[in-house]
Amino acid sequence: MADSPLRRLPSVNDLLERDEVQPAIEEFGRDLVVRMIREEIGSLRQKIASGQGNGELPENALIHNVRRRCEAQFQPVFRRVINGTGILLHTNLGRAPLAESAARAAYQAARGYLNLELDLATGKRSSRQAPIKPLLMELTGAESATVVNNNAAATLIVLRVVASGKEVILSRGQLVEIGGSFRIPEIMSVSGAILREVGTTNITRPSDYENAVGPNTAALLQVHPSNYRITGFTETVSIESMVAIGKKHQIPVIDDIGSGALIDFSRYGLEDEPVARKSIAAGADLVMFSGDKLLGGPQAGIIVGSRKWIDRIEKDPLMRAFRLDKMTLAALETTLRLHTTQDRARKFIPLYRQLEMPLEQVQRLAEDLAGRLRSIPGLGQVKAREDVSFVGGGSVPSQEIASWVVEIRHDRLSEEELAHLLRHQPVPILPRVQKGQVLLDVRTLMEEDMEVVVAQMAALTSS
Ligand SMILES: *Cc1c(COP(=O)(O)O)cnc(C)c1O
Repeated sequence: MADSPLRRLPSVNDLLERDEVQPAIEEFGRDLVVRMIREEIGSLRQKIASGQGNGELPENALIHNVRRRCEAQFQPVFRRVINGTGILLHTNLGRAPLAESAARAAYQAARGYLNLELDLATGKRSSRQAPIKPLLMELTGAESATVVNNNAAATLIVLRVVASGKEVILSRGQLVEIGGSFRIPEIMSVSGAILREVGTTNITRPSDYENAVGPNTAALLQVHPSNYRITGFTETVSIESMVAIGKKHQIPVIDDIGSGALIDFSRYGLEDEPVARKSIAAGADLVMFSGDKLLGGPQAGIIVGSRKWIDRIEKDPLMRAFRLDKMTLAALETTLRLHTTQDRARKFIPLYRQLEMPLEQVQRLAEDLAGRLRSIPGLGQVKAREDVSFVGGGSVPSQEIASWVVEIRHDRLSEEELAHLLRHQPVPILPRVQKGQVLLDVRTLMEEDMEVVVAQMAALTSS
């Protein structure tokens, strides 16, 4: 028993006295170092107990491990990852990357004070909506505007203010679920509005709305079926026709357009994306959309429409519960300012750059990356080939965009093993894994990602 390996383990107090431990105590505090020494010794004990090793870990290695454990405590779980999936608006990866200027605005807002609710001209209190409102009015042609936490919140507050206790008429073709927990019928019931379904899944006609209007009707609702399409024998009612019916019966028309296209995206091959300005021009009373989909900004729910309704929404108690924080507002303002000239939006908003990058350029990037990866010994077969990217983001997930990918077949690892290894890099790389292949879609790689991918791959095969 005297020479049991367990007995040879140093004590916590011994270790704490060592000179080599003092820098860690200085940096992380004594309490944490004590905790981490206990954990490290505990894990050595377990190893000995389970017969792996004899506890002969040299003391300097033990101290090194304690330091690593301390550092790990401060390593955030949220961190930059490399999106090789080819999904531009990936909800699990934070949707739209911000323009550099928008990210900087959020950073500045975060690290100090700002005039969030203060008018610098008068020195008086102002609204945090004030800088955003005129921008949204300019960009959509609406009479007024307000912003909340996301489009789900926007839909909820709009329905509550316009239709609590009353009926909202909605086509059965638009009873959608968008990304997990956003289901129109459930949002409707939480808001206190009563859902009045009309038409069928594939066919809804103006007369269906017309016939459903009654004394308890508060609104006509249009919801963009963002993540699916009904094709074949179909008929839908345009926002113009809905507005005509609404006007005739003096009922407001609400349009949840979803992805928040400020311009016509058909030039990028994205068909049927409703444009906010068009819906307002058609006469919709309230139009809602997300900030982090096709707008390319931070998470937000944008509501534009008539002053009468926006004023009432802003007085609702939910407005306070749904309000945006200073960082998001700063990033949103900067993003919207970029949108005021299309050239700047296209130049500086990453989503636009990704959508617009010509196929030949994507091909060149893919071939370049493949060439560099091929020169790494032991990585296996690497080739560039054509494939497709997806817009994603619960808005237009099935919209395909022609792209190029780098396909990697590792000499020894299966595709799942390689993907696992890539996820565990210092800057995790998320590839698309399909049919025995690991693919990196270069359309979703950021400029600075290329070097990192090559360096990490090189380190991976040499270790
Ligand atoms: C995405 C989407 C929503 C939800 O928006 P969030 O900003 O994610 O809350 C609601 N309605 C439609 C039509 C959408 O496309």
